[in-house]
Amino acid sequence: MTTDDASTPMTSPQTSPHSEERPRISQRVGAIEPSATLAVDATAKALKAAGRPVIGFGAGEPDFPTPSHIVDAAVEAAQDPRNHRYSATAGLPELKQALAASVAATTGLEIDPAQVLVTNGGKQAVFQAFATLLDPGDEVLLPAPYWTTYPEAIRQAGATEVPVLAGVDQGYVPTVEQLEAARTERTRALVLCSPSNPTGAVLTPEQVAAIGRWALEHGIWVVTDEIYQSLTYDGMPFTSVLKAVPELAGTTVVLGGVAKSFAMTGWRVGWMVGPADVIKAASNLQSHLTSHVNNIAQRAALAAVTGPTGPVEEMREAFDRRRRLIVEKLSQVEGFTVPTPTGAFYVFPDVSGVLGREIRGRAVTTSTDLATVILEEAEVAAVPGEAFGAPGHLRFSYALNDDDIVEGIDRVIALLAP
Ligand code: PMP
Repeated sequence: MTTDDASTPMTSPQTSPHSEERPRISQRVGAIEPSATLAVDATAKALKAAGRPVIGFGAGEPDFPTPSHIVDAAVEAAQDPRNHRYSATAGLPELKQALAASVAATTGLEIDPAQVLVTNGGKQAVFQAFATLLDPGDEVLLPAPYWTTYPEAIRQAGATEVPVLAGVDQGYVPTVEQLEAARTERTRALVLCSPSNPTGAVLTPEQVAAIGRWALEHGIWVVTDEIYQSLTYDGMPFTSVLKAVPELAGTTVVLGGVAKSFAMTGWRVGWMVGPADVIKAASNLQSHLTSHVNNIAQRAALAAVTGPTGPVEEMREAFDRRRRLIVEKLSQVEGFTVPTPTGAFYVFPDVSGVLGREIRGRAVTTSTDLATVILEEAEVAAVPGEAFGAPGHLRFSYALNDDDIVEGIDRVIALLAP
């Protein structure tokens, strides 16, 4: 439906013709919040389309093209009739084998290809992991700030998220004491995301080990999202919870994907790796939902995970340079507290020092207000912390070029100068 389609009513009736009370949309789906990150991106794009010089720090995707050897593998795959047909739901055997080897390398565990399920992006892996592990009434400990999709996926599984907030003063990393204080007899799982979207925080090996041992002790499942594993800086090592606590192998699901490391957001290949019974059950779900992932994209993903690491390292170095640049620039904004992230491609300043002020005649009390003023007055897009369970913050993605980073943050500095 378009806004200028006069023959179609723009607002739908709230109830179906058969019932005055019954909403037209199911409770489960009607309760889903639109993605705030996509909303910011959409507003920024609309302003850009209207000719405004918006600089977007909202999108969570690399700005590089996919490395050419990966694209070449896809072109070749598209010409091979074997890839024109249905294949196995759980993924191409070669790709499952390669992913099993990759997880084995990061964890030191033996991983069988039967423990791997290839999904349509990391997002499908997130949904299927929760759908497979959770029952109504279950609680999931969710360290906040968290990536905006987790609570929705947890709720779609009928369970409840229990946010555990760790602020800038603790580097956005929750302590075992905080997790323990939030644990109840209903606690079924814990989410880990290191390197983190939205904070860029990376857990140290000691922190991973402490949290992992605590989860093991209490029989809590760990859902560990390792999609940013190749993007760490300042010599910070990536530590998989399965490497730190191998005894968790029976109660951990590892999530990953090619999107962030290989600049492949549009290709839609992710995975979940876990105990064979969980993977088999999730695969049954996927068989009725989306079947296998596009064979050509799977062949491209195979080239990515088995190919040369040079292009990945080059992109990581570019992100590292931009990270240092944006932290230096954001630190000049009066009222922002800017921790230096050591992973992913996000910075997450605490902006509470700016709130409560009037900016260009507008009262700014929340980080959502601030994001709106920055977008409308400085034409800079950033995502408000409310989207990540952490009001009082903004998320800036630095997956854009150096000149835009400087220009964009200079505008914010000028706008917020007291
Ligand atoms: N996990 C995290 C933490 C993410 O930030 C994202 C992308 N924003 C994903 C998973 C999903 O990525 P995709 O579906 O594009 O593979």
